[in-house]
Amino acid sequence: MALEFRSVTKRFPTNSGEELTAVKDVNFRVEEGEFVSAVGPSGCGKSTILSMTAGLYQPTEGQVLVSDEPVTGPNTHVGFMLQKDLLLPWRNIISNIEFGLESRGVGKEARRERAMKELKHCHLEGFDQQYPYQLSGGMRQRAALARTLAIDPEIILLDEPFSALDAQTKLLLQNSFAKTIAEAGKTTLLITHDLAEAVLMSDRILVLSERPGTVIADIKVDLPHRDEPIKRRTLPEVADYAAQLFKLLKLEEKAA
Ligand code: ADP
Ligand code: MG
Repeated sequence: MALEFRSVTKRFPTNSGEELTAVKDVNFRVEEGEFVSAVGPSGCGKSTILSMTAGLYQPTEGQVLVSDEPVTGPNTHVGFMLQKDLLLPWRNIISNIEFGLESRGVGKEARRERAMKELKHCHLEGFDQQYPYQLSGGMRQRAALARTLAIDPEIILLDEPFSALDAQTKLLLQNSFAKTIAEAGKTTLLITHDLAEAVLMSDRILVLSERPGTVIADIKVDLPHRDEPIKRRTLPEVADYAAQLFKLLKLEEKAA
């Protein structure tokens, strides 16, 4: 399923009575099966874009479309995964993965079967009976991905899912997420402040301005190995793409 923003502006009320414009006139489209990242300064409205895609907020102006239909509220087409894994500490891993299926009324056996399948996809075999506190940060994020995939959404939204991890775990996890998502053929929108991560994982990168965020560049990443960031990482062009993003975000000027 494709995802599209058409001239989307989002304003929030503030305590002072003035309105805060989080994002302004945002336009982009993510085609079915594409992996697109959005990068931009802190506070430019990245999470707001994901929340509108998930139907948690309505745009003030413009339209958010999933499969060419306006998003009117939370729906089963979209799976949302955050930086914090939000696994329930009192449930073991398999019943955490089943959680979303349970609230959708899927029967016990079908639930367990789907959850076990995703456990395997996310390389967590043998950990089904463990509790979240018994797993490393990287494994917990894999369990959170398994829970997101278990409800079989057509679109996956990832809000900085690797930012709390150490560098090596991060690279391994980027690789395993990329593979799993490519195999499942999901349309994906990843929010990240890690420019290298955007280059390693994406078909395209949207660059957002300072708040109010708007799309200032839409860069096609013309490199192989989208499903294997560890391989893509060795290509010399990766540094060129990262430098291009660095420039667009005016990081040198900001450091001066
Ligand atoms: P980012 O994810 O890029 O860091 P956010 O989308 O979280 O940015 O926030 C963009 C701006 O909108 C920020 O100034 C933030 O304070 C504001 N904002 C986000 N959500 C709300 C809300 N529910 N109510 C009021 N202001 C909000
Ligand atoms: Mg955010």
